[in-house]
Amino acid sequence: MEIQTHLPSFVRILGQVAIIVYAYSGVIRTVERGALKSLAVGLLFGLGGILSMSDPILLAPGILHDGRSILLVLAPLYSGPLGTVVAAVMMAVFRLAIGGIGAVGGSASILIVALTGYLLTLLPRQWLGSGWKQSALFGFSTMTSLVVLLFLPSQLAWELLVSATLPVTIVNILGVILLSDLLQRERYRVGIQRALENEASVDPLTKLPNRRVLQREGDRCSKEAGSRRTPFSIIMLDIDHFKKINDTWGHSCGDTVLAKVADVIRRTVRKTDVAARYGGEEIVVLLPNTDENAAMIVAEKIRRDIEAADLAFDRDIIHVTVSIGIACSNEPTTDFKYVLEAADKALYRAKAGGRNRVELSAAA
Ligand code: GH3
Ligand code: MG
Ligand code: MG
Repeated sequence: MEIQTHLPSFVRILGQVAIIVYAYSGVIRTVERGALKSLAVGLLFGLGGILSMSDPILLAPGILHDGRSILLVLAPLYSGPLGTVVAAVMMAVFRLAIGGIGAVGGSASILIVALTGYLLTLLPRQWLGSGWKQSALFGFSTMTSLVVLLFLPSQLAWELLVSATLPVTIVNILGVILLSDLLQRERYRVGIQRALENEASVDPLTKLPNRRVLQREGDRCSKEAGSRRTPFSIIMLDIDHFKKINDTWGHSCGDTVLAKVADVIRRTVRKTDVAARYGGEEIVVLLPNTDENAAMIVAEKIRRDIEAADLAFDRDIIHVTVSIGIACSNEPTTDFKYVLEAADKALYRAKAGGRNRVELSAAA
């Protein structure tokens, strides 16, 4: 095998790897988890295999090799069982459609390699190892693709076994090490990026979005409300006599109560509403497309739900109440900042009026 002749083919393979890694990054960024992610990565691997089969490397006269086994054996690691089935079926059907003497054997070998990869993932972790050693094991196991030889005339099968086993296995092992390393780096990078984004936007105690997210969403909501001429409302809530909870049961009890109050609110509001931790024990809910009457109903429900909730801490059951201020963006004031200030003033009135009550702002 002369290097000058085959260099362009290997460069093409590298190009295919780059496309797959790039697309993988896009998929895991868009689809976070679950069956949908499995399906999407499986589809990607299936398409990658088809792309590779359309552009094979000629290792020796009559011996075609492509990257399908590299993708197939890695599919269980990156796309789970569901994605592996999707990728394997796509490639097997495509291999049958290409036809030729190796069509049936090729399709069988596709299924066998996918199954091999899946069985490897069932092995105990300490047997599998990690890093390049694990990849080398997966690469080596692509040798099960030699099952294709059983479907060929014995003379041809023997010749291929002697001449192609070594180069095919070497290319597969190197391919699996390279692709797996790149995919792992990408997965790690996307994971870190997601964790950082999460850290910058989510309050760790209540798991609610923080004030920064509220400001951003509030500005967006107020712009939309201005252009569409639809109202939005703000609910501002403060736990009553919270200092007493901290003083009586301790600060960590206060933390638990706060987190449980946040849970009650999360359960009550719609998916499109934004409930955010605004300050110490103040929570603000932004309600897009909501007028003051509808906001009043939501606020009353939140107030009643929190009042009725048994907030358990160790063996104690604690009850708290909240005071709530509401403001709605009535024209000409759709500016988020002013509506928020109006809700704050209404909250002050709810406190002054005796607490555990909802007050509506006179005019936002
Ligand atoms: P009011 O009914 O007037 O709201 O009385 P209050 O005691 O709740 O008074 P205020 O809202 O001024 O006090 C809030 C207290 O909440 C003060 C602070 O120590 C406590 N706090 C703020 N953030 C946290 C937190 O994250 N955890 C705990 N445990 N306490 C907090
Ligand atoms: Mg308070
Ligand atoms: Mg407060």
